[in-house]
Amino acid sequence: MNKKCQNCELNNFHTVENCVRCNFALGEITVESSATEKKQSLGFRILKRAAVCFGVVLFTVFGFYLSLIGTAETLSYEQATTVNNSIKILEDRGFSKEVFYLRYLTAFRASDHWLNASVVKEAAYAATNYPFEIMTLYPDFFNYPLDDVERAVILLHEAKHLQGEGEKEAYKFVWENRKKLGWTKERYGRSVVWKNVRKQTKEFAPTLFICKFSEFEDCTE
Ligand SMILES: [Zn+2]
Ligand SMILES: [Zn+2]
Repeated sequence: MNKKCQNCELNNFHTVENCVRCNFALGEITVESSATEKKQSLGFRILKRAAVCFGVVLFTVFGFYLSLIGTAETLSYEQATTVNNSIKILEDRGFSKEVFYLRYLTAFRASDHWLNASVVKEAAYAATNYPFEIMTLYPDFFNYPLDDVERAVILLHEAKHLQGEGEKEAYKFVWENRKKLGWTKERYGRSVVWKNVRKQTKEFAPTLFICKFSEFEDCTE
């Protein structure tokens, strides 16, 4: 049997190691590679297929993430400073887990990306896309709160969404932790954010507001 050279296609005598014309090594390349293929077990091939699928999914999800990030405005320098100040307040008050999410996992945006823009929603201070950890901060977030403590309140709520929690858990957590945060009735009880949040909390977590003899029937007062 002759060995055909892979390089110049010359038919060489079967005993030679290298092509007599171009000196290309005449291994049994094609035969060898098909043999190894046969040796691969079914399990290995399934694993390989799964790895490819996983890669494609990862690539798609990452592309989706980039499209969300890319179609929204970034925070201005002043806005970013405001956000950092509020996160610092949360840190000082001991909300380390939430601070970790906000500081290291969140991409802050100042306007809606295409996905948020495509859904009708109520006026809001902020919106979070879990599990992409993209947080959109609307103008109201910067305009309505009295100070950075009230912005920290909103970030604390959104941090619960970053952790995959729903509205009930988010409102409940913030309301139960408002004193720890320094968001007290004495100081903030007349603010827009306070009234909004209390109303929403009563809606989502009514069991906190069933104490007849407390103000606003609030069991946490
Ligand atoms: Zn050759
Ligand atoms: Zn929420």
